[in-house]
Amino acid sequence: MTKNEIINLVETTFINYGIKTVSATDVNKSAYVPNIRQKEIFEYFEINPMDRRQDIQIKELFTNRILTMSYYAILREGANRPPEPRMGLQDLISYLSIGDEILFAHDNKNIFIYNLSIITDYEIEEHIYTQIDFDTLEEKARNTDPRPQQVQQTIYTYSRNNTLKNYVKRRSDYSCEMPSCNYQGFQKENGERYIEIHHVIPLSERGEDSINNTVALCPNCHRALHYASNRQELREILLNYLSHL
Ligand SMILES: [Zn+2]
Ligand SMILES: [Zn+2]
Repeated sequence: MTKNEIINLVETTFINYGIKTVSATDVNKSAYVPNIRQKEIFEYFEINPMDRRQDIQIKELFTNRILTMSYYAILREGANRPPEPRMGLQDLISYLSIGDEILFAHDNKNIFIYNLSIITDYEIEEHIYTQIDFDTLEEKARNTDPRPQQVQQTIYTYSRNNTLKNYVKRRSDYSCEMPSCNYQGFQKENGERYIEIHHVIPLSERGEDSINNTVALCPNCHRALHYASNRQELREILLNYLSHL
């Protein structure tokens, strides 16, 4: 997964994010100075370094590692310059080298950090969708454009549609949403239970690409919805299920 793909995915899933390149001063002074967009993230959680030194815990994206850092303001040299917020402590400083691009992002519950200069082989997409707070994922999924996207994409991007699919998987707790189905399924290599996603009213029949028209189904129920002689009846059952969510 490339850096741009990660940024694109973060943009479609998190509430806000900011990226800054680590400067020589950050490293030499052992204090990282967040940029404006990154400061906004702390403000969102009402963490204000002007009041007092704050210890904050930040989750590292993809690894679940918790990094502890302090956030404080320091008076700068020269007159008429306001105090500058800085971040310190071993966890953060040992993490940074000059030129690294540091991404901070947040959902409703947590602040996340990721050093974009360290590209890993993780199945990053799965990690993001399981780490992000469910309320934030729901908010993003609810606000996807319900008009189906028919554009052929040549560049692989993480569309809002993926946010929608992953929201529905978590809504169902990776089980079949067909009422009365007792699917147990099997686990995938990444530990997630296998489940499929289905549009109750097909996009070809002008169904919406939205959470109100999308369900998680086991492979058997899914095939039945497409091919069973009573598929219209099954469709009604799912529409009724969705209308009561
Ligand atoms: Zn389907
Ligand atoms: Zn089923």
